[in-house]
Amino acid sequence: MAEQLLIPATRSPGVFIPELVYFEPNALDYPKGQAIMAWAEREGLPVRMTTSHNRITDLPGESELEKYRIAKRTLVVGIRKTLKFDTSKPSAEYAIPIATGCMAHCHYCYLQTTLGAKPYLRVYVNTDEILAQAKKYIDERAPEMTRFEAACTSDPVGLEHISGSLKECIEFMGQQPLGRLRFVTKFHHVEPLLDAKHNGHTRIRFSVNAEYVIKHFEPATSGLSDRLAAAGKVARAGYPLGFIIAPIIWHEGWEEGYAKLLMQLKEALPEEAASGLTFELIQHRFTKTAKNVILRRYPRTKLEMDETKRKYKWGRWGQGKYVYPDEQADALREFITERIFENFPEATIDYFT
Ligand code: SF4
Repeated sequence: MAEQLLIPATRSPGVFIPELVYFEPNALDYPKGQAIMAWAEREGLPVRMTTSHNRITDLPGESELEKYRIAKRTLVVGIRKTLKFDTSKPSAEYAIPIATGCMAHCHYCYLQTTLGAKPYLRVYVNTDEILAQAKKYIDERAPEMTRFEAACTSDPVGLEHISGSLKECIEFMGQQPLGRLRFVTKFHHVEPLLDAKHNGHTRIRFSVNAEYVIKHFEPATSGLSDRLAAAGKVARAGYPLGFIIAPIIWHEGWEEGYAKLLMQLKEALPEEAASGLTFELIQHRFTKTAKNVILRRYPRTKLEMDETKRKYKWGRWGQGKYVYPDEQADALREFITERIFENFPEATIDYFT
């Protein structure tokens, strides 16, 4: 098992290197835990032990904001004990848990509220148990296909050089006639995945957006041209490819911004990428809780979160969301749909939400 782990001795430029690493002691009983420890030592990173990956009580930092920023540079290596997978509609049946947290600072990111007081990055070392659970879900639903989303709680591409977990999931699903994997990323570090035996069972999607959105709201992610170059690489490696345009934001010049984005996609992609291409479209939304958290963490954000300009959409489990009023949402959907089909007549739009 240990020799399968892809933790390179040299690293590609720009990959995430944490400033502090915590280990649950039992994580070191697993080959992946040992390999990550060896990597942390090679990198000369400070290492601490923690009794549980759910409770890191001694994170450095004076203020809440400082703690948050440090947490985003802190890696916690633990064992995933809860093997009940969450659902992941509309893009998949289940969320497969291989990591949580993200090193990027997208102002609108829903992880700010869903991860609550645990914004640090966690990777799990017991991938074999996680994949065995995935197999149970696949068997339960047979003969239906079961799709797993690997990016519900993290951007796993940003952590792949540390954990190698995504490649393990890809190769596992490659052997499942009724299992499919998908994940989305804003990072371009796809090299470790290019030679995976995916068998066409994993769809890699890149999150893309108008220049205005990337520039103002997505600090510490890969730039658009890097994401598109990576999209070309995974398409050439035979992976099904998709794009998620999210969050779609109404801003001055949005029509030019989204038209240009679709043209850039068209120019950057190799021909083989166009067939079977999928798009998922998600308009910007926020909750009252998210707004408060975002304004504390990114006080100078230009993100428009004015409830009076939005439509309130009731949530199934309590707190509702503020989305664009129907007229604006329809205009965004129609305009972007037209630009997609203009540039990619054979593409499928999976949903607009
Ligand atoms: Fe959140 Fe994705 Fe941005 Fe990471 S890259 S902060 S997961 S939106």
